[in-house]
Amino acid sequence: MTRKVTLIPGDGVGPEIAWAARRVIDASGARIQWEVVEAGEATLSRYGTPLPEHVLESIRQNRVALKGPITTPVGGGMRSVNVALRQELDLYANVRPARTLPGVPSRYQGVDLIVVRENTEDLYAGVEHRVGRDAAESIKIITREASERIVRFAFELARSKGRKKVTAVHKANIMKLTDGLFLECARRVAAAYPEIAYEEMIVDAMCMKLVQAPENYDVLVMPNLYGDIISDLCAGLVGGLGVAPGANIGDEVAVFEPVHGSAPKHAGKNRINPLAMILSGVMMLQHIGEEEAAGRIYRAVLAVLEEGRHLTYDLGGNATTGEMAEAIVAKMEAGL
Ligand code: NAD
Repeated sequence: MTRKVTLIPGDGVGPEIAWAARRVIDASGARIQWEVVEAGEATLSRYGTPLPEHVLESIRQNRVALKGPITTPVGGGMRSVNVALRQELDLYANVRPARTLPGVPSRYQGVDLIVVRENTEDLYAGVEHRVGRDAAESIKIITREASERIVRFAFELARSKGRKKVTAVHKANIMKLTDGLFLECARRVAAAYPEIAYEEMIVDAMCMKLVQAPENYDVLVMPNLYGDIISDLCAGLVGGLGVAPGANIGDEVAVFEPVHGSAPKHAGKNRINPLAMILSGVMMLQHIGEEEAAGRIYRAVLAVLEEGRHLTYDLGGNATTGEMAEAIVAKMEAGL
């Protein structure tokens, strides 16, 4: 049966990598029918909003989306489309795997970890206000419900993927009430998974340990802000933003997207690395049960990386976005 999937190209470099991912996924034999909807800069002038209601409706209906990055102007009154999407659709789990890839320049070997970031609250709840002219305040919100469900999600993910350890990342030594509550919830949930090791790590120590010995970590779970920062750090451990895929998962729907943003300075140049978007597509295919197509794409990606002939600038090559995508398609057509 053909599955309908919402495709949001996004803005900046989004349309280029969305095209590349679509080309590769279409060539993989996945039984997908795309429903393309625009969001971001393209709809701001036309509909007066970067996130029109029909975009949310399409995702709700299809329950799965592949999304390109969307620009969030710094300051000003505009709410981030990415944060809004996660909150509107209750996509509470942000999942970002970081795995060493062959042929991708990196200081580390043997990294294979998954960052699970709580996606709906913490300082990203957007409860901010000015206090007079010269001060501003942002409120960090941590609830038992959201903390327990994200830690449970991390343990369930660890169990389903045969992972051995979950590390809860926090700063409860300073934020005793908010991060303290997160830790209390993590401990309670961890007790229900005795076969999976559980440890706790203060976020600053976590950063140091990740750059010293990332191969010691498996599944990491944390509140929103730490997750935002640590997941970029982990992308850096395995070759950078160009190869870092991600997923935003809720009980009803899931939106897959690269970790990186719209990289405006590269927009329209056909030079950005499409792998983060293509690998997000692989995660999407696994999520909807298209395991064979996902495996075909993943093997073709590894083959292109190992061969090293069609790499984008960030991986030390000079291939265009389109050439890299075509090289992956060629590997699939060659029967990989
Ligand atoms: P960015 O991730 O867009 O780019 C930073 C730099 O990383 C780029 O200039 C480029 O040198 C490199 N880079 C990123 N992706 C790459 C790729 N695929 N291949 C090769 N190099 C790559 O970060 P930014 O410049 O801080 O953000 C730009 C905009 O994107 C901002 O408006 C930000 O809010 C938004 N953003 C959106 C999302 C999202 O849609 N989920 C995520 C992060 C940032």
